[in-house]
Amino acid sequence: MNDKPVIGFLGLGHMGLPMAINLHKAGYVLKAFDVVPEAVQRAASAGIETVTTGAAAATDVDIVLTMFPTGQHVLDAYRESLLPAARPDTLFLECSTIDVAQAREAAALAVEAGHRSADAPVSGGVVGAEAGTLTFMLGADEADLAQITEVLEVMGKRIVHCGGHGAGQAAKVCNNMLLGISMLGASEAFVLGERLGLSHQALFDVISSASGQCWSVTTNCPVPGPVPTSPANRDYQPGFAAALMAKDLSLATSALGHTDTDAHLGTLAAQLFSKFAQDHAGTDFSGIINAVRDGSL
Ligand code: NAD
Repeated sequence: MNDKPVIGFLGLGHMGLPMAINLHKAGYVLKAFDVVPEAVQRAASAGIETVTTGAAAATDVDIVLTMFPTGQHVLDAYRESLLPAARPDTLFLECSTIDVAQAREAAALAVEAGHRSADAPVSGGVVGAEAGTLTFMLGADEADLAQITEVLEVMGKRIVHCGGHGAGQAAKVCNNMLLGISMLGASEAFVLGERLGLSHQALFDVISSASGQCWSVTTNCPVPGPVPTSPANRDYQPGFAAALMAKDLSLATSALGHTDTDAHLGTLAAQLFSKFAQDHAGTDFSGIINAVRDGSL
């Protein structure tokens, strides 16, 4: 007898499908749905039970997990089909990366409709989703932690409980704002180093063991050579696409506005990545070093 919670899983895209497959392989019964029929077909081919509407995915399940592109998709689906279809006290586990204010609005709607809510955005990308090694930043009530953790552990290796509703999205937006800024800083440092006659390796050897050390240098180094696994070594194939960084920085800009925070670097990073992503949406975000080098930003 399977005593695992039944999960309505909505959003079977780049991230959602591999996450759903990991839950299925771990023995969870899913009711999976996507508005794109081909995505539903891919899930069915992996042996996952699929349904034909969002409402059906939310009916008679213990957890409704969503992995959508934006907060507006989440709010629309919650209002139009998911919240009314779910039985009382269903846990709405929202894993998309969305605006903090919209995450809090979605949680309030769920609670108002008699359900429970948590936000659990992820980092780790498609590779992490496939390998089941995502990091989840969790905004949830203490009382729901045990049930949520059991499910998230199937899809990830690290779960950080950041606080109540919206705290997961808040942590994600702060981290990714810093990541955008640090990649721009790393890019400027390597381009300046080139012009001062330094080899990439020499500068890497210094920064990676000195006070400029950061993930943008030691793991995702924007120049080829020093870190063989960084996207720079494969012509900046992502990795983490510039379009996604631009999206996350636009969420940061929104959060800065809502909180009246005067963040010069975060605001500038949002502008620069938005410009870079116009022509390089699918390029790894570290490819912005090429725009720094040619002065096109
Ligand atoms: P995606 O566009 O590939 O997938 C989203 C899916 O949601 C699509 O298949 C879409 O059809 C479906 N969808 C939209 N509205 C729906 C609805 N009402 N009902 C059912 N399905 C619906 O996006 P993705 O790359 O899988 O990313 C999903 C989320 O995860 C985004 O918020 C993204 O910012 C975040 N994220 C992505 C990555 C990454 O590397 N791709 C990394 C971390 C976080």
